[in-house]
Amino acid sequence: MTLPLFRHNRANRVVTFDEYREEGGFEGLKKAFTGMSPAEVQQTVIDSGLRGRGGAGFPTGRKWSFVPRDLPGPRWLICNCDEMEPGTYKDRVLLEHNPYSLIEGMTLACYALGVRHAFIFIRKGYEKAAANLARGIEEAKQAGLLGEKILGTEHSIDLDLHLSAGRYICGEETALINALEGRRPNPRQKPPFPAVKGLWQGPTVVNNVETLANIPAIVANGAAWFKGLALNPEGAGSKLFCVSGSVKNRACVELPIGSTLEAVLDACGGMREGRKFKACIPGGASTQFLKPEHMTLPMDYDTVAKAGSRLGSGGVIVFDESHCLVEATLNLITFFARESCGWCTPCREGLPFVKEILTRIENGRGVEDDIVILREHVKYLNYTFCALAPGAMAPLDGLLRDFEDEVREHIVKKKCPLK
Ligand code: NAD
Repeated sequence: MTLPLFRHNRANRVVTFDEYREEGGFEGLKKAFTGMSPAEVQQTVIDSGLRGRGGAGFPTGRKWSFVPRDLPGPRWLICNCDEMEPGTYKDRVLLEHNPYSLIEGMTLACYALGVRHAFIFIRKGYEKAAANLARGIEEAKQAGLLGEKILGTEHSIDLDLHLSAGRYICGEETALINALEGRRPNPRQKPPFPAVKGLWQGPTVVNNVETLANIPAIVANGAAWFKGLALNPEGAGSKLFCVSGSVKNRACVELPIGSTLEAVLDACGGMREGRKFKACIPGGASTQFLKPEHMTLPMDYDTVAKAGSRLGSGGVIVFDESHCLVEATLNLITFFARESCGWCTPCREGLPFVKEILTRIENGRGVEDDIVILREHVKYLNYTFCALAPGAMAPLDGLLRDFEDEVREHIVKKKCPLK
């Protein structure tokens, strides 16, 4: 079965505009602009079961349906391409091979939502992806598929590319909105959610790159086709898994939703020679560990959640028996502590403290009470202003839940047992 996201990819270069069109690109856009109402496009997305691919997995069509239709003034669409979750590089790979699915998907989303002007907020360092998008936007405009009076209709839509100044917190949707407005990127209080009150106080949908890149195929082939791609009845579509760590070929692969964890690792050649799977973080740094017993687990949002973790962004970090998971967690906490915006106290003060305790344990200076203190912080740091600190606590929560013995061994032996 042909999966939608990587089907236009070439081995070592970006697909051209002509190749994309010859292979059915922009057919979804033509179908919508010439024969579907905006409400029909939105209903197709609702029926498809597409869930947000940035990490939270919120149903995309439902998010769109929160946008008030009767308010005067503009509404906005923002593509969140500020991909910075450790272990996550799927949006970069997608855009370095094909910028057109996103451009077409955003145009369709604007049509469905009644948006005139949309933004792509792209991570600093994603220059190649940004150059592909800038070129693709111009090509689409030249072909009458974007800009004024698309395909001769009354609908006009513009896409603007905005390069991020480069901090993890800018990817939090309300911080991103502040950044786009030229303010300091502190998160805003939710609710109101951006779909109701976002950019310049107007209704704003913020969707991830992979989410929007799925829209053209959904519109072209229908909701039932998309649902049917998944291997499990609750799932829908495909998912990009970007795999790093102890696999033979670290790669970004597209597989049907509901593929097992084992199938994801197999798509990357399996474990590296002589290495035994110990654990993995399945969905970017802010998810709990999965263990060997989860090899047959279908990688679907609800199923992974039931197993005590999250599918998240699909950034799979694989650890083998030679890896110390205290050190791995410390590495992630160090990242989160550095990237805290510092606005709310539990996050600003709590993350460096957790980092200090984990450093102590890893260096053989930990005491039994440290485990108790860490557990308390997992609890307290879930009550912060935005999702950064709760996300940071997820791997620590998993460490204490599934690998407490390994943590305690550091304390008892007064050293890292793997060094
Ligand atoms: P969230 O669950 O609060 O919200 C998810 C989306 O649904 C948001 O767009 C939100 O506005 C919308 N939403 C939720 N409830 C709503 C309601 N009642 N009305 C209207 N809209 C509603 O999650 P979040 O804080 O936006 O994101 C956290 C996720 O981001 C985590 O899962 C994390 O894994 C992921 N993340 C990904 C990256 C990356 O690089 N891909 C980086 C950081 C975090």
